[in-house]
Amino acid sequence: MTDPFIQQRLFCPGPTPIPFSHQLAMLEGNIYHRSSKFRDIFTSCTERLKPIFGTAETPLILTCSGTGVMEAAVVNLTSERDQVLVVSAGKFGERWGEIAESYGCQVSCLTVPWGESPTPEQLLKEIEKHKNLKAIFLQANETSTAVQFSLGELLPAVRKVFAGIIVIDAISYLVAQPMKMDEWQIDCVVSGSQKGFSIPPGLGFIGLSKKAWQSLSKRPKHYFDLLGERQGQALGKPSFTPAISLIMGLNQALETIGTVGLPNIHKHHEKLARAARSAIAAMGLDPLAKSNPSQVVTGFYLPEGFSASEFKKHLTAQYGAVLAGGQGPLQNRVLRIAHLGLIDRFHLLTGLAAIEFGLKDMGIQAATGNGVKAAMEELAKPS
Ligand SMILES: *Cc1c(COP(=O)(O)O)cnc(C)c1O
Repeated sequence: MTDPFIQQRLFCPGPTPIPFSHQLAMLEGNIYHRSSKFRDIFTSCTERLKPIFGTAETPLILTCSGTGVMEAAVVNLTSERDQVLVVSAGKFGERWGEIAESYGCQVSCLTVPWGESPTPEQLLKEIEKHKNLKAIFLQANETSTAVQFSLGELLPAVRKVFAGIIVIDAISYLVAQPMKMDEWQIDCVVSGSQKGFSIPPGLGFIGLSKKAWQSLSKRPKHYFDLLGERQGQALGKPSFTPAISLIMGLNQALETIGTVGLPNIHKHHEKLARAARSAIAAMGLDPLAKSNPSQVVTGFYLPEGFSASEFKKHLTAQYGAVLAGGQGPLQNRVLRIAHLGLIDRFHLLTGLAAIEFGLKDMGIQAATGNGVKAAMEELAKPS
């Protein structure tokens, strides 16, 4: 039974809350995916993805989770025994490594401590070690540790010494933050539907540069044959039955994004992130990211001796607030509160309030309201 006084609210970095207009758009029911109506909607969607990717090339829409498009990138852009470099600063960096290894790549890893992000110097040093490097795989946001990578600094530095393929996992980054695929000379950007786009999981997005389209692998592939997809999708005809209802949701999400405007959405996320960080500091909690904190999720440690998993369960049971815990070495030590997706300031404030109620319940802190107050002060500042 659902308790009307404990409303579930999502604060995990995916899936994110779905606005009512997006829900409504998905209720239309199946329309035939080979009809001209669907083809028009589909091509209009891929067209409107371009500015979100920051590219003049048309991205593709696949039916799969984010990890599916990560795999599609590896399958289409590498061959067996290719030397590839993976930046591993958390769970999703590790995932790049696992996928590339599954496909027989020779993977070297630049391992960065969890909670930190790579510096240009670290990356350049690693690149120098490998003379035949084919591709580099990294994240835009390492969502698992609540850090962002400084792409605007890293990529120009890397491009001075590396002419190969650069692939960015921007699954929790697109829409919320400005991606400049062409300007930063990125060859492949991947993303998914359940994070910044605020629709359910199930769609993967992948953009390739001109250079990437010219250097596709000759590996066997079928479902993730991007060249075949490209030919069909140019005419609004994905190779296989797409997730029709999700495309209808995407169509509405892109409408919302177009109306609000990407620069305003980016500013909104910067503001929410500042509010979340100042709230966590005002609560006396230790932030997970010591530098380069993510704009879409804020991580924090619980004081020594308190279980983050218990705290997380308590917040869900008592207040309906669904936060994310820590993974790998951070398990049971940290919590993460997302400010991702098309959410308003009051959504974030309720999550922060839930944390403060929880801190009081657990006897960690007596006072409540300091965090919410700090967040409100930040939100009240003119932008
Ligand atoms: C969520 C996420 C993924 C995984 O996406 P799935 O849809 O769960 O497969 C990969 N990378 C990053 C950075 C993410 O935030």
